[in-house]
Amino acid sequence: MSEKDFQAHEIRDQIHIDYKYTLGGQSKFFIDLKNDKKLQGTRCKKCGKVWMPPRIACSECFEDTEWIELPHTGEIMVSTIVWYTTSDFIQKVPYAVAFIKLDNADTGMLQGVFSENLVPSKIRKGQKVKAVFKKEGERKGKMTDFFFVPENEYENWISKPEYEGGE
Ligand SMILES: [Zn+2]
Repeated sequence: MSEKDFQAHEIRDQIHIDYKYTLGGQSKFFIDLKNDKKLQGTRCKKCGKVWMPPRIACSECFEDTEWIELPHTGEIMVSTIVWYTTSDFIQKVPYAVAFIKLDNADTGMLQGVFSENLVPSKIRKGQKVKAVFKKEGERKGKMTDFFFVPENEYENWISKPEYEGGE
């Protein structure tokens, strides 16, 4: 049979997949985020390096780490502005994503940075930011439970009905 005579027969169908996955050794980060708006990093028991996002073993000396609660404030290490995104964030475009080093942490975490009036000067390296959380009951124990805003916009963001500040 020649290629031009070929006709594929196609049937439309659906696949529904119901599943769950585990966050393993990093579960505490997500549980404490959901229940208590805590940002838990880990500290190496040997060299003292503080990891955020948390690592259960130090990547530099391979020793076990211990949990350490970090403040909700930090600063931007590097950032970019997002114009194309997934359905979860399409209403937020344009927004920024940044590596943020929380105060007392030694490493940076990738997270969204929202601003009322986003201009590049607001997401520069060194910009102080603070975490804003979804309300109790809306938090699912996921990274989308919180985001960062420039420090001087914090009070404005937590006054919105859908968000709240940490304690
Ligand atoms: Zn270490």
